[in-house]
Amino acid sequence: MSPLIEVKDLTFEYPGKKALSRVSFTIEEGSVTALVGPNGAGKTTLMNCLAALARPVYGHIRLQDVSVLDNPRECHRLIGYLPDFYGLYDDLTVRQCLKYMALAQGIISENIDNAIKITSKRVHILDRLDVKVGHLSRGLRQRLAIGQAIIHDPKIILLDEPASGLDPKARHQLSELLLELRDGGKTLLVSSHILAELEDYSTHMMVIHDGKLEEHTSIRDHKFQSVRTLVLTLARPAEGLTAALSLEEAVSQIEENGTSVEFVFAGTEEDQHHLLKQLLSAGWPVCAFAVREKNLQETYLEKFGAHSHAS
Ligand code: ATP
Repeated sequence: MSPLIEVKDLTFEYPGKKALSRVSFTIEEGSVTALVGPNGAGKTTLMNCLAALARPVYGHIRLQDVSVLDNPRECHRLIGYLPDFYGLYDDLTVRQCLKYMALAQGIISENIDNAIKITSKRVHILDRLDVKVGHLSRGLRQRLAIGQAIIHDPKIILLDEPASGLDPKARHQLSELLLELRDGGKTLLVSSHILAELEDYSTHMMVIHDGKLEEHTSIRDHKFQSVRTLVLTLARPAEGLTAALSLEEAVSQIEENGTSVEFVFAGTEEDQHHLLKQLLSAGWPVCAFAVREKNLQETYLEKFGAHSHAS
């Protein structure tokens, strides 16, 4: 099966500035890709190209085998796009805003009420349909903006910095909404500087820097790698444990700190089980044994810390 999104050698230039340079990747249906990179990396430009709003100088983009360059209108139907800066009509009600967008998307009049109902349920603003937009909180405005972007039920949703300016509660609700969209079968590409939140719902991470794609990886690969960091918690400090662990072939980089011992373990889960059994039968006072999973932020900073400003 061909990927839902296919980008090949995408190159984009503003006058005097190459913003994307031979970017190539594919995205599978049902995935949620976190698009990260420092300010000015090219994230917005990439989204604009995917949404058929900016014309690259070179390369191609296909959405469900439809060429964005040859058939931009057809691609608009496949895509819902929330740009980083958007305007809403404060004097309209939520219902009027959604209706306006439904008409703009060419939804036929007898289907509009149903589209408004489904969308407002999806983004949890069904109870605000008759409230004027000017009276909505920032979080609700954001949900309405996402609602407008998805009123035509697109397969692909592009969200540029959707969490910016939201308070912690509204951000949490946004994360839950994106998870629901993912579970509803949508394919999402979400740019953000808030890596901890991207991790809540992303399946993949794409890093761009200075217009180049530096990394595109499944986040699960990071979590289920065969080399992992294990943390032992001890009931009391245990002299000699570090020396005993260092005899194990799969163990390296041991760091002991009182009742906590952390080390890198290169083995299978079966090997991990044997190590735990061995430690307990040798009488070491182990009271907890856990894999320390690297989060998205740590992975990102480890690889790109030197030249990134994502936070
Ligand atoms: P941010 O995280 O700050 O939103 P970004 O990763 O989205 O950044 P882009 O907005 O795509 O980055 O910009 C990529 C590069 O292109 C930057 O160097 C930017 O200064 C430049 N750029 C963006 N828009 C224009 C424009 N209209 N004209 C000229 N240069 C531009």
